[in-house]
Amino acid sequence: MSVEKNKFYEMTITDIGTNGEGVGKINDFVVFVPEAITGDQLEVKILKVKKNLAYGKIEKILSPSPRRSEVTCEVATKCGGCQLQHMSYEAQLEWKQSKVYNALTRIGGLKDIEVLPTLGMEAPAHYRNKAQYPIRKENGKVQIGFYMSRTHKVVDWSTCGIQDKRCEQIIEIVRNFLEVNNISIYDEETHKGLVRHLMIKTGFYTGEVMVCLVVNGNELPHSDKLLEALHAVEGLTSVLLNINKAKTNVILGHEVKVLEGRDYIIDTIGDLKFKISALSFFQVNPEQTKVLYDKALEYAELEGSETVWDAYCGIGTISLFLAQKAKKVYGVEIVAPAIENARENAALNDIHNAEFFVGKAEEVIPEQYANGLTADTIVVDPPRKGCDQALLETLVKMNPKKIVYVSCDPATLGRDLGYLDQQGYKVEKVQPVDMFPHTTHCETVVKLVK
Ligand code: SAH
Repeated sequence: MSVEKNKFYEMTITDIGTNGEGVGKINDFVVFVPEAITGDQLEVKILKVKKNLAYGKIEKILSPSPRRSEVTCEVATKCGGCQLQHMSYEAQLEWKQSKVYNALTRIGGLKDIEVLPTLGMEAPAHYRNKAQYPIRKENGKVQIGFYMSRTHKVVDWSTCGIQDKRCEQIIEIVRNFLEVNNISIYDEETHKGLVRHLMIKTGFYTGEVMVCLVVNGNELPHSDKLLEALHAVEGLTSVLLNINKAKTNVILGHEVKVLEGRDYIIDTIGDLKFKISALSFFQVNPEQTKVLYDKALEYAELEGSETVWDAYCGIGTISLFLAQKAKKVYGVEIVAPAIENARENAALNDIHNAEFFVGKAEEVIPEQYANGLTADTIVVDPPRKGCDQALLETLVKMNPKKIVYVSCDPATLGRDLGYLDQQGYKVEKVQPVDMFPHTTHCETVVKLVK
């Protein structure tokens, strides 16, 4: 028996897929249903049928799973940013734990492993320290908010539940400034108009605030009026213009002009201070970053005599954390300005035992190894595509006692751990950390021992 498109069926959700969608069976068909969770009894409408699977949408919840959570965000379905809002936070954390377990066993082929319960937030709201809002004009009104999923239409929205609360006030100040002074707004189709995006960065521990307008031009008319209005924002440290005249979807250009204050804000993680500029990468959930880095440090088990590599080091955050406990830390990162920040951050914290290289981890580490540089412990924190095979091969040759793998993608983590396991590195601890509550993103720290 098959299922038919546009027909209605009753079904029970028995599992949650890797993208957070509910999964169940109708006849012999596996059916995927977004926004559904294990335990839901549903009436679904079938939207698409393939050979032996189908996609449906909820028509009616006949009996809700006890693990459902009421969706309070008014724009949840339009935005698509928080895909797991319909799950209780506890259910989200458990799903992330099982997602990591499935990737490690199915993709990595690992056996007898334990994945620890996900470390979640006590209050998983307003956790982000960086927001980027597109600005457009529709029917004569300035719209500041987010792109409706899969479109470039901007939905006006200032009260996002995961952004810093001060963003709301800043959005209203900027909107008022743009309207009252009749500042021209960017139009993607014609590539005309000035103001494209509003970016806000905040220091979670220091309270500092950066406001950055991205413009298709060189200056902002009446900027003194904007500055005057922004003085109402507590902690305002930095008002910037980012120049982006390119016809592109990339939000930021390379040039930054200071309208007022410094060109960076400072935030702390643990005992360390970090300079965060408009263009540099910094983890977006500061509270959980501390949890993640503390775990990485715990798994590195440093005693003070070790040489450590931090591969994919960004602005040197993990490297400097490690440097407090190791003899010497080497960091490598492909983005040159990030390495400049890493060196500045080392100086800012009076850390002198960290050295940084610009380049590809899979080239720099083998080169340095060929020059005789070995390591007791190696930390890797690659982007979603995981570690390059050449890097993994060099790691094995370097024969460190421990490898700490920080991952933002369970699938590539599974693949890389499968290889390292075959080469004699045993997975000793697997700890998911929830860096992105209400979304499907999943971060993990793993300890491997030779
Ligand atoms: N450890 C840092 C950054 C992790 S994000 C932190 O916690 O903040 C991953 C980093 O890897 C990014 O900064 C990206 O620029 C860098 N990267 C991507 N490909 C790389 C490669 N082949 N070699 C070195 N770094 C790379």
